[in-house]
Amino acid sequence: MSGFQASCPSCGATVVFALGSSLLRVCEHCGVAVARQGAEIKNYGKVAGLIPTPSVLALGMDGDYEGAPPFRLVGRLQLDWGQGTWDEWMLGFADGSWAWLSEAQGRFHYMGHAPVPPAPAFDDLEVGHTLDLGKAGTFVVAEVRSARFATAQGELPFAVAPGSELHYADLSGPGGQFATLDYGTGHTAESLYVGREVTLADLGLRPRGDEERRKGTRAESLKCPKCAGPLEVRAPDQTQRIACPWCGSLLDATHDFEILDVLSKPPMRPLIPLGTQGRLRGVPWTVIGVMERSVTVEGVRYPWTEYLLYEARHGFRWLVEAKRHWSFVEPLNPGDVDPDSAIYGGERFAHFQSGEARVDHVLGEFYWTVARGETTETDDYVKPPRMLSKETTREGNRGEVNWSLGTYLPADELWKAFGQKGEPPESEGIAPHQPSPWSDSVGPVWRSAAFAVAAIVLVFLFLSITGGKTLHRQSVSIPPVVAPGSPEAAAFAGPFFVTSDGNLQVRVVSPVSNTWLYLDGALINEETGAVDEFDVEVSYYSGSDSDGSWSEGSTTATEYIPRVPPGRYLLRLEPQWEAGRTPPEYQLTVRSRVPRFSYALLAILAVLVWPVLLVWRWFRFEVGRWSESDHPWISSSEDE
Ligand SMILES: [Zn+2]
Ligand SMILES: [Zn+2]
Repeated sequence: MSGFQASCPSCGATVVFALGSSLLRVCEHCGVAVARQGAEIKNYGKVAGLIPTPSVLALGMDGDYEGAPPFRLVGRLQLDWGQGTWDEWMLGFADGSWAWLSEAQGRFHYMGHAPVPPAPAFDDLEVGHTLDLGKAGTFVVAEVRSARFATAQGELPFAVAPGSELHYADLSGPGGQFATLDYGTGHTAESLYVGREVTLADLGLRPRGDEERRKGTRAESLKCPKCAGPLEVRAPDQTQRIACPWCGSLLDATHDFEILDVLSKPPMRPLIPLGTQGRLRGVPWTVIGVMERSVTVEGVRYPWTEYLLYEARHGFRWLVEAKRHWSFVEPLNPGDVDPDSAIYGGERFAHFQSGEARVDHVLGEFYWTVARGETTETDDYVKPPRMLSKETTREGNRGEVNWSLGTYLPADELWKAFGQKGEPPESEGIAPHQPSPWSDSVGPVWRSAAFAVAAIVLVFLFLSITGGKTLHRQSVSIPPVVAPGSPEAAAFAGPFFVTSDGNLQVRVVSPVSNTWLYLDGALINEETGAVDEFDVEVSYYSGSDSDGSWSEGSTTATEYIPRVPPGRYLLRLEPQWEAGRTPPEYQLTVRSRVPRFSYALLAILAVLVWPVLLVWRWFRFEVGRWSESDHPWISSSEDE
């Protein structure tokens, strides 16, 4: 490494800047920050002692990242953002270049230099919005904050006095890409670092394995300073707050369990108790914290409960319960969600509800500085069985955005997974992302129905073309001297032969005008003597009035005789007509096996009963689902 040496302006000891690009070095002898400004050496004052964090890293460790040249941990910067601290490790390469490795809550991000593109001023950044950084890519602004340079060890690439406020924005890109825009102590972007989450194994770093560390990873047993109840800390490395399960008081886990909020009894009784273990997706989770949150819409409070799940290797997840409906919730990388159209993993989610969620009660341990009354802007989007949720905390332009993905979990499945006795409590109403019991069958049922209708239509068309054999045709003139309805007026038609089972169509065409003809008919089987009676009427009227000309009725009438067996037949037709009018003539046609459209229609309707019912049920379910959203399908009269 291209080193640089100077003597400490405070104690005179030799200070070695091992990396040519280092601008600040903490003197190992007196603890003063020694800064390099050109050829000048300055005393930036004494740095504070290191904040005890559960880091597994130490200065001087060597590693290499994905076959890149080896590096050494040459500097450590500890930053405090007001609600916690984190470590930034400076990695020095043999050629004098460097990169950052940030360590927070047991997670690591490797961040390399990138040229600074035109970027908004610090005050113009907006949490949750996208930022186009040209060649570096497009990112979502996940966090905008200021952090205090708390202390340092070794050397650092910038000359900033300990205690300074540093402004930065954490950005999240697609596929797990991360970036940080550093604004230093000013308001214009000074540097851009781009990288991704890494494991220590990726970096070829062997974590420290000393006794102290190993002790830290075990669940710690302590006593509540308020009620002396035993406290079990299940994620000691990451827990910031503990709400005592015995008295409910909120304790600061990072400062000797200082009491922050005094309560005398636990504020709630979770359905699943703290400490319960359950296996979901093959991971044995433990419930370590429970919090009750709510939104209030038009004076009505809608509460829900969130169970914080922890597993040492997988970190944190959530189990969310609202009206006894359950979801398993996983954090998402903000850069993987399109914030403008709520698209995640190629799927578009529909906006369901926005609100302001408030923390009402807490119990157990939390990895952030949770407090009663804390509020978050929430936006929920659904695509059953999943729900995409965005939570934004904002103070001016500072704040952060978090996205998570919830998957609907059937209550009995959950009950079994967490070894709960008896039946899970009955759920109420319909959850925003509850899968509809109907939606899966609507498509296939309608497809089958469409096929069935098409088949019916085809069969009908086929029968219409091939069926309908004419058996008999006859013109009948009624003698002018007989009286309507008299036996003398009756005419016989036939005989004709029916050769196969089926219906018989009797069609009468008569040129009636403003009058009618009624035929009392009988179909007589000459062989058996069986008689089928029927009647058929033709009537046609027309004229004109103030609305113009009109007409009603028809000069044609058709009648069907069902299920006529084969045989020799005769028709007897006894006519009646308007008294005083000339008896009309008529044309008679007898056809067999005539397909009837009304039957086809009935068959089609029968086929459609279930699909229509299904759509109705599906519709009712969706109306229920959306009734409590910002976009109800049917607005209830109470809302007006
Ligand atoms: Zn010194
Ligand atoms: Zn207590």
